Amino acid sequence: DSRRVLEIRIVPYGEHQQLLLAREVTRLHRLETMRRDFVGNITHELRTPLTVLRGMSEQLGDLEEPTAEELRRPLQLMDQQIERMGRLVDDLLLLSRLETAAPDADQEPVDVPAVLRGLLDEARTLSERQHRFSLEVDESLLVEGDENELRSAFSNLLTNAIKYTDPGGRVDVRWFVASGAACLTVADTGRGIPAHHLPRLTERFYRVDGGRASSNGGTGLGLAIVKHVLSRHDAHLEVTSEVGVGSTFSCVFSRYLRRADGHASREVAR
Ligand code: ADP
Repeated sequence: DSRRVLEIRIVPYGEHQQLLLAREVTRLHRLETMRRDFVGNITHELRTPLTVLRGMSEQLGDLEEPTAEELRRPLQLMDQQIERMGRLVDDLLLLSRLETAAPDADQEPVDVPAVLRGLLDEARTLSERQHRFSLEVDESLLVEGDENELRSAFSNLLTNAIKYTDPGGRVDVRWFVASGAACLTVADTGRGIPAHHLPRLTERFYRVDGGRASSNGGTGLGLAIVKHVLSRHDAHLEVTSEVGVGSTFSCVFSRYLRRADGHASREVAR
C-alpha cells in the first residue's frame, strides 16, 4: 500500500480567518492498521479452538451415562485444542518479548553445533522416523547471543521442514562459513513455496495455504519469531524454494566466533 495519509484540521485564526493544518500520518496510520489486523488475527486464531471446545463440552453434557469409549474421542479432541491454544499463547509471549526487550548486554558464546545436535534428536522423534535427516557442522563455529532464542528459531525451521515435507522426504541441516558469514541451512524435499509468497512469509499469521496449514498445529508465528531472533543477532533469513521440489531456509550471521582448543576467539565478518 503506497498511499500517503494526511490528517487535515481547520482551526480558527484571528477573528475572521481560519487556518488549514495538514500533517502526514502515513506511518501512524499503517501502524494502527497493522495493530488492528494483529488483534483481529489473534481473536480469530483463539476463536477456532474455543468453538471446538464448546461443541465438545456440549456433546459430553448430552451423554447420560457415558462409557469410557464414548468419552475417549471428545476428550482427545479437547486436549488437542487446549494444546493448540497453549502454543499460540507461548508464541505470542515470546514474540512480544522479542519485540520489546533489549537484547542481553552480556551475550554468551553459543555452542551452535551442540544446540543443533539436540534439535536433530528431537526432530527425529517428532518425525516418527518418517523422514531422513543429515547434519553437517563446523564444530569450531559459534555465535555470540542468547542460546534459548537461537534454539527456538532453529527449532521452528526444523519443525516446519518436517511439517511441510511428506513422509519419505529428506531434511538436511548444515552449519558452515561461506562468503565471510556463518550460515545455517535447513533444506527439505517438501512441497515448496510459490515465489510470490516468499516476501510475506515472516509476517505474523501469514500462511501459504491458509486453512490447511493452520490445521497442522502451526501457530503462523514461527517465521515471525525466527526473523526477530535473527535480527537481534545481526543475522537475517534467506529463503529459496521450488514448488514440488523443496525449500531451503538459511540463517546468515555476519558476526561469529571460532572455538580454538576449547576457547572461543572473536571473528567478526564485514
Ligand atoms: P506455521 O505455524 O503455519 O508453520 P510459520 O510462520 O512457521 O507458520 O510459516 C508460515 C508459512 O510458511 C506456513 O504456514 C507454510 O505455509 C510456509 N512454510 C514454512 N516453512 C515451510 C517449508 N519448509 N516448506 C513449505 N512451506 C513452508
